[in-house]
Amino acid sequence: MHLAQALLGWYDRHRRRLPWRTEPGARPDPYRVWLSEIMLQQTTVPVVAGYFQRFLERWPTLEALAHAELDEVLHAWQGLGYYARARNLHACARRVQAEHGGCLPPEEKALRALPGIGRYTAAAIAAIAHDRPATVVDGNVERVIARLRAVETPLPTAKPTLYALAAELTPETRPGDYAQALMDLGATVCTPRNPGCLACPWRDACEGHARGMADTLPRRLPKRPRPLRHGVSFWLMRADGAVLLRRRPETGLLGGMIELPTTPWRDQPWGLAEATAHAPEACRWQALPEPVRHGFTHFEIELLVAAAETDAASDGGEDGDIWCPPARFSEHALPTLTRKLVRYAARHRSGPGSG
Ligand code: SF4
Repeated sequence: MHLAQALLGWYDRHRRRLPWRTEPGARPDPYRVWLSEIMLQQTTVPVVAGYFQRFLERWPTLEALAHAELDEVLHAWQGLGYYARARNLHACARRVQAEHGGCLPPEEKALRALPGIGRYTAAAIAAIAHDRPATVVDGNVERVIARLRAVETPLPTAKPTLYALAAELTPETRPGDYAQALMDLGATVCTPRNPGCLACPWRDACEGHARGMADTLPRRLPKRPRPLRHGVSFWLMRADGAVLLRRRPETGLLGGMIELPTTPWRDQPWGLAEATAHAPEACRWQALPEPVRHGFTHFEIELLVAAAETDAASDGGEDGDIWCPPARFSEHALPTLTRKLVRYAARHRSGPGSG
C-alpha cells in the first residue's frame, strides 16, 4: 500500500484528540490552527492546552486578538517563554486583520510574509487549515523520515535531504490529515527513544527498522556548550515596600517584558563596585550570596542580585520605571528569569509585602 494511504488509515483509527483539532470531516478554523502552532513551537502539548483554552476564551477570534493591547497578550503568554512569539502573534493578528480581511491566507508564500510565521508554520497552516499539499517538517517529522529512509547524515546537515524526502511522500488527497498523522506518528509511535515499530503503519517499508538502527537515528553533530554570560540585577525597595521594576526595550531578547533593573550582560563576571555604575540609584548596595542562573536557547546567564533600600517616595524616575509591591507583581508580564530573581531576592530580603 502507498505510504500516505497506510498512514492515513492508521490516523483514522489512532488520531490524538487535541483541543485545537476538529472532529473528522469538520473544517478547521485557521485562527485556532495558527494559534496552536505558534504556542507549540518550543512548548509541549500538555502545557499548551491550558494556554490555548484561555486565549480562546479571552480572544475567540483573530479579530478580537488584533484589537487586544500588546501588554494583555504578553501577560496572558506569561510562562510560555520565548516572548518574541507573543509579540509576533499580536503583530500578525493585526496584519491579517488589516491586509487579509481577518482570514489567514492559504498560500505558504503569503503566510511566510507574516510576522512569526516561518517555513514550518506556514506549511502547517496551509495543510491543516486549508488542506493544501504543503510539506510540514518539524523535529518529529525529521526523526520519522530519517528512520524510514535510514538517513545517516547528521542533523542539521541532513535537513534539506529530509525535507526533500518528506516532500516526495506528501499526498494530494487529505494533505491536512496526512500532516497531522505524521506529527502523531512521531509523537506517539516513532518516539525519540524506543520507537514502537510493532505498532507502526510504515514498519514494512522502514529501512531504519529493517537495518536495526532506528533508535540511533537521526544522528546529530555534537552540540557546542552554551556560553555563560554575566550581569547584576538590582532589587531596590522603597520604605512602603514597593520594588523598582522596568520594561525592557520592545526589540531584542525578552522585548517589552518587565524586569529588575540590570547591568548589560557580558562574558566576564561583574564586580559590585563597577556594576553599581548601572544601578538605578546611588545607595548602599549589598550583593546577595548566590547568583541566579537561567538558560536561554543560545547561552546561559548568571545574575548576581544587589539589594538596597531607598528613601525615594515619588514615582518619578526613568521612563518605563514601575514601582510595584511584590504582592502585585503578578499583574505584570514577568518572564521566567525575572520571576526566578524575584523569588530569590524576596527570600533574602524582608520588607512590607515582600513575602
Ligand atoms: Fe519509526 Fe519504527 Fe515506524 Fe520506522 S518502523 S517509522 S523506526 S516507528
